[in-house]
Amino acid sequence: MEKGHILIVEDEEKIARVLQLELEYEGYSVIIKQDGTEGLNAAAEGGYSLVLLDVMLPGLSGLEVLRRLRKTDQQTPVILLTARDSIPDKVTGLDIGANDYVTKPFEIEELLARIRAALRQNGPKTEDIGTFLTYDDLRVNEKTREVRRGNKEVELTPREFDLLVYMLKHPQQVLTREQILNSVWGFDYIGDTNVVDVYIRYIRKKLDYPYKKQLIHTVRGVGYAIKG
Ligand code: CA
Repeated sequence: MEKGHILIVEDEEKIARVLQLELEYEGYSVIIKQDGTEGLNAAAEGGYSLVLLDVMLPGLSGLEVLRRLRKTDQQTPVILLTARDSIPDKVTGLDIGANDYVTKPFEIEELLARIRAALRQNGPKTEDIGTFLTYDDLRVNEKTREVRRGNKEVELTPREFDLLVYMLKHPQQVLTREQILNSVWGFDYIGDTNVVDVYIRYIRKKLDYPYKKQLIHTVRGVGYAIKG
C-alpha cells in the first residue's frame, strides 16, 4: 500500500530531486513544485498526506505559503526546510502552524523520521475526514478503499472497487454498459462490453448474493442500477 502522497515545495532542483528519489524509495508518492505560488496552489487543492516546504522560495516565501494554507487547511502536516542559522524562521514557522522543521543541510534519515512522526500524529484525523459513499447498509471509504456491507468488510479488487464507486455516485440511475465501460475502463479500452457483465457478476457475488436485499439490479436490455 502507498504510504502517503507528499508535496515538496523546493526551488533547488538538486535537493528536490534527491528528496523525491529517497521518498519514492521509501514508498511515498511525490509531487514537486518549485516556487511559492505554485506550491500554495497545489497544497490548497488538497489530497496530500504531508507538505515539505522550503522557507526560501521564489514567488511567495515558505512562511507566507504556510500562513495562507493554514487559513483553509489546519490538518495537513507541514514540515519546513529552514536554513541552519535562521532561528526566527523556525519560531515563526511553528507559531503559524508548521508541525516541525528540519535544518538544511539535513540527514535524510532524520527527515524521514520527522515525516513518519508527523504522519502518525495526523493519523486518526485522516480517517475522520475520509470520504464516505453510502447506500442502504453499504459503506465505501474512497480514501482507504474500504468497503463494508452492514458490519462485514468486503474485499474488492481495484477494478471492482472503481466499478462500485462509479455506480454509487449515480444511485437509482440506470447506467448502460457503454457508460460504465467509458467511466471505469476508459475510452481507450479495447474489448467488448461483456467485461461489464463479468465484473457486475463479481461484485454481486461479494456484495449482494450473501445478503437478503439485492442492491445491484439488472435493467434488461439497458444496463445496471444501484437501487432498492
Ligand atoms: Ca530555497
